[in-house]
Amino acid sequence: MTDVKALEECGKTAVDALEFSRTIVKEGASLLEVTEKIEQFIKDRGFELSFPVNLSINEKAAHYTPGLDDKSVFQKNDIVKVDVGARSGDVLSDCAITIDLSGTNGKIVNAAEKALDEAISLVRAGRKVCEIGSVIEKAVASAGFKPIKNLGGHGIEEEELHAGVFIPNFDNNDDTELEEGSVISIEPFITNGYGYVDETDDVQIYQLVSTAAPRSQEARSILELVAGKYKTYPFAARWIGRELNHLSDFKVRRGITELLSIGTIEPFPVLIERNKGIVAQAEKQLIVEKDSCRIVTKT
Ligand code: MN
Ligand code: MN
Repeated sequence: MTDVKALEECGKTAVDALEFSRTIVKEGASLLEVTEKIEQFIKDRGFELSFPVNLSINEKAAHYTPGLDDKSVFQKNDIVKVDVGARSGDVLSDCAITIDLSGTNGKIVNAAEKALDEAISLVRAGRKVCEIGSVIEKAVASAGFKPIKNLGGHGIEEEELHAGVFIPNFDNNDDTELEEGSVISIEPFITNGYGYVDETDDVQIYQLVSTAAPRSQEARSILELVAGKYKTYPFAARWIGRELNHLSDFKVRRGITELLSIGTIEPFPVLIERNKGIVAQAEKQLIVEKDSCRIVTKT
């Protein structure tokens, strides 16, 4: 049974963190500092993180979070996807906005938000996921953009951020029906580029997936920290560096590489638009009801 109260508390905190991000994502601000301030905002409210705060800029669509060595600052034309989640125990929230620092990309940002609103207006028990995708695709096309076809919304269960149903951003002919009481997120990613994302070699986020034991001392220390503190929730290499500050960056990287090689952890590579188009995202989490839905991450 979904703990609606706990879910709404997580959702409210995540939404407030997004609003907070609007006040600090500015030209010249450090990505690393901004990310850690948003994460601290959630922790100061007494919550854990569903996953590391993602700040994915321009053609980067998702899964970027700064490393400890990240010296970059926001540029005046950046279009920034801020994707956050607050967690309480095993109850997870997940939502995202896009911030346009240029002042000239309002059209794509609004199109993503409008597609999301139209999709949400369709939600009810029994609705086919391809119908949701179709409405997103049409709304996005009418604004002159393309949906990103290999990203989409998802079911969210306790302990599992991506569970069950996949909610496409286009009509993929999937007749799967939404179930009453299920928790989902809908997240149109849209672009002026090709409409697909590809994985890059840049990885900052990982997740524990097995208990295979590593050999080296540094990998054992990392595994012990992750298993105890982050469990099976995604974590950032940056968090490891902060927590195990007796280990050099080199040893942290080497330990992570060892854990990847034996399959103890899996990577979430940074995803980039195939034609390097700019990407906007809007995401809300909701509970499917008989005739409509209840938005968990209300703005
Ligand atoms: Mn998200
Ligand atoms: Mn999501």
